[in-house]
This record gives sequence, C-alpha cells and structure tokens, in this order.
Amino acid sequence: MQRESHAIIIGGSLAGLLASRVLAKHFDRVSIVEGDFLPEKPAPRPGIPQSRHLHILLNRGKIILEEFFPGLEKELVAAGAPSLDPRSIGWFSPAGWAPQFTPDLNDLILFSRDLLDWHIRRRLAENTNVHFREGGTVTGLLTNASGAEVAGVSVRFCDRHNRANTHTENLNADLVVDASGQVSKTPQWLKSLGYEPPQETAINAFVGYASRIYKCSGKLSDTAPVFVSLGPPLRTRGGAIFPIEGNRWLVSLNGGDRDYPPADEAGFLEFVRTLPTPTIYDAIKDAEAITPIYSYRGTENRLRHYERLPRYPENLIIIGHAVCTFNPIYGHGMTVAALDAQMLDECLQKQRERYSEGNLKGFSRQFQQKLAKLHTIPWTFAISQDSRYPGSEGAKLNLATRLTIDYMNLVLKVLVSDPKVCQAFVGVAHMIESPAVLFHPSIAVKAIGQLVSGGQKVAEGRINRQT
Ligand SMILES: Cc1cc2nc3c(=O)[nH]c(=O)nc-3n(C[C@H](O)[C@H](O)[C@H](O)COP(=O)(O)OP(=O)(O)OC[C@H]3O[C@@H](n4cnc5c(N)ncnc54)[C@H](O)[C@@H]3O)c2cc1C
Repeated sequence: MQRESHAIIIGGSLAGLLASRVLAKHFDRVSIVEGDFLPEKPAPRPGIPQSRHLHILLNRGKIILEEFFPGLEKELVAAGAPSLDPRSIGWFSPAGWAPQFTPDLNDLILFSRDLLDWHIRRRLAENTNVHFREGGTVTGLLTNASGAEVAGVSVRFCDRHNRANTHTENLNADLVVDASGQVSKTPQWLKSLGYEPPQETAINAFVGYASRIYKCSGKLSDTAPVFVSLGPPLRTRGGAIFPIEGNRWLVSLNGGDRDYPPADEAGFLEFVRTLPTPTIYDAIKDAEAITPIYSYRGTENRLRHYERLPRYPENLIIIGHAVCTFNPIYGHGMTVAALDAQMLDECLQKQRERYSEGNLKGFSRQFQQKLAKLHTIPWTFAISQDSRYPGSEGAKLNLATRLTIDYMNLVLKVLVSDPKVCQAFVGVAHMIESPAVLFHPSIAVKAIGQLVSGGQKVAEGRINRQT
C-alpha cells in the first residue's frame, strides 16, 4: 500500500489557510499547526493582533479568493459585509483629493479580518484531508540523518483553558510550509541545523496604527467611506473610515515617521481633527464607539532572502509575512498571501509533471526563487513611499529603485488632475494592472512634464505633525 503523503503548515492565518487550500489538492493529508485556539465565531485571537485594524482586500486578492472558494463573496455579503462601488470611496491622495474616475475594478467587499478568516476556516473544514492542530506551537524542524531534508516539525501543545503546556509531539511530513508570519523562527531553526540564516532587507518608516469601531448611527449613517493616504515626506498623518459587517464603521488612523496616533480618547480624536480633510472627524466626533482603541506599530517592510542562501534544505518553504512583510498601509498582505498560494499550486503542478508524484527534489529552492520575483512589485510599491520619510531607516536604494520612486511621485502629482492617470494608478495599486502601464508614453509625458512645470508639491502645505 502506498504511504500517505503529508504536508504541515506552521500558522493558521491567511497565508497558512490559503496554502492549505492548494496543498489539499497535492497531498493526502494537510495539517495546519496553529499556536492559538481558533474562535468558533468571527472573533479576534492573540496570534493576529492586526485583525483589530482595517483590512482592505485588493481586487486581485478578491479574484483569487473567489477562485479558491467559489461563492465566498456572497457568503461574506450575506454575513453583512458591505459591497461597495469603488467610486463611492473618497480618496485623499498624497497630492490631494483624487478625481472621480471610472475604475476598471470590481466592487470592494468590506469586512473585519475576523469575519474573513472565520469564513475561510469554515470552507476549509469541508475538506476532509485538512486538519487543524490548534494550541500547538512549532518549536523546531526535524530533519533526516544528513540534515539535508526537512522531515517534519516538533510541536509543543498547550491546554485550551489555562494555556499550560500539555505535551510535545514530533510530526513527520513530506513538506513543511512556514506561514507563521513576522515572528517566524525559521532563520534561527536553520542556524541551529548548520545552515546560514537568510540575509534581511528592512525598511522602516515607523508607521503606527490606532483603530476603533463605531456604531452606525446619527451622522455616520450618511457618511461616505474615505481613505486619507500618508504623504511622505511632509504629511505624516492619514486614516480611513469604512463600513464593516454588523452595521458598524471601522476607523483606522495611521501616523508615519514616528508620528504615532494616540490610543487615548482625547488624543485619538485630536489626531483625526488634524487630518487634511475634516470628513472623518465630522463623522465620528459625536459617534458612539463600541470598542476600545487598539494600536499597532510593527509595520516595517522586511524581506528575508531565502532565495539567496547557498545551501537550503529540501522540503521546506516559507510564505506570506514569514518571508516578506510589507508596511500594511498599502493593503498588500492578504493579496500577496493569495498570490503565494497560487504560485505554490502552479509550482507543485509543474513538479508533478516533471518528476514522479511525491518527488520534491529541488522544489523548495526553486519555489523560494520564484516567490522572491513575485514579491518584487508589491515590495517596490511599498518602499517607494516609505523610504521618503526623513526618519525612515534601512532605505539603501539602488539607482534604478530611486528613479522609479521619483517617477511614481510625479505620477501621484498628475493623478489628482487627470482621471485617466488616476484610473491607471488605482488599477496598479489593486494589483490588477502591471506597473508598466504607468510608464506608457501617454502617462510618462504628463509625469515628466511636472518636472518642467514645477507641478504641485506632493502634500504641499499639509504637514500634519503638531509641534
Ligand atoms: C495593522 C495591519 C493592517 C493590515 N491591513 C491590511 C490590509 O488592509 N490589507 C491586506 O491585504 N493586508 C493587511 N495586513 C496584512 C495582513 O494582516 C497579513 O498579510 C495576513 O494576515 C497574512 O499574514 P500571514 O498569514 O503571513 O501571517 P500572520 O497573519 O502574522 O499569521 C501568522 C500565524 O502564525 C501563527 N504562529 C506564529 N508562530 C507560530 C508557531 N511557532 N507555531 C504555530 N503557529 C504560529 C500565529 O498565531 C498566526 O496565526 C495588515 C497587517 C497589519 C499588521
């Protein structure tokens, strides 16, 4: 009888959940080992503290999620998630209000992160070969005798009620997928196995979040959603107000260059009041808050270069935030997790065509190399703004990246007065269009024309930091 093939995923947040969806096609059994106990209804949990903050699903991510889980969008809407025409959202860009344009986008669905994860977990649980191992923290990798192949993980399980350690298990697997996010221990685990840990590139714009949910009543009932972008180097304050399920509105404030939004009542409101448009302040100043204010500061961009390692073990891959974290302000994380899963599916399919079923020789290294290429565009997009704050750390950029950044800023200046350029930019921001469209001569001429005319200064006169 043929041996059952088994894949283990470390971490049951979005990257892990989406990876398990595709691994279920390629392996007999898939185990998601998650340190938390997973809530039985949509609710926050300690392992993903970011769920308290606004999570916008880009159009590209929405399309992939619907492919993975047909009908998911309808389920979210039926659970109360508003579905909005992108034209109904006001965007205060780094250079001012973006013009009305006809976007080539599908409607956006707005939800709390807890609702999305809960629906995806529910759909995954329908797969009989996907198993959740909750309350299990992976503490190390197991290898074969030579150390060249990862053969499983060591897991410390704890008690659901008091979180006391109960027992340790060694779980064997043909493939181990690290989707444990920014806190990933793979660099240390590799080191302890005699491998080099990956080099890291980190760019930190010191952006902080503060978020709170409000009841939809009074003035909030006829407010339009608004997104106020940060505008480095001068504008350090931004924020957003969006409706979510349960007839509630989520307000997330962002401050860059260490201009962190406060988490106390008066400071939060005062920060909103100093945004370059009064829309959010007017909407919430008399509104009823139904949660405390939650803050979050771990927003640096961090790339772990597994693709460059001279020696790399077989049967281990690293995806999602564990390999590439973005400043979340650009809304890339969930969509990139979906793209990672899609690439995993394609690569496993090709591996199967090339080699006999179950043979993963060379797979891990090739996968990490492809993944690094996939992350280039969202990475460049994120750092192109973050590196512009005077206090940003780690931004050692090559000439090509610096020129791209300068060009993108010219495009940002043009889009406020040109609906067609705005449409193209939004398509790129939603990862529907390639950034190449922004270099089309029809846009390039206008962008470079800004250099000649002097153009409007990005975020001119709107320095939000209160001295
Ligand atoms: C403030 C904020 C706002 C964001 N807003 C957006 C947005 O608007 N749009 C968007 O697309 N993305 C956004 N993101 C990004 C998004 O949250 C992530 O991309 C998404 O959660 C996928 O991340 P991940 O699954 O790779 O890692 P994580 O979400 O960090 O999850 C890691 C998981 O691994 C578990 N874990 C960790 N270590 C272990 C271990 N040793 N053993 C077992 N389990 C372990 C954790 O408990 C957790 O469940 C935002 C992020 C932040 C911080």
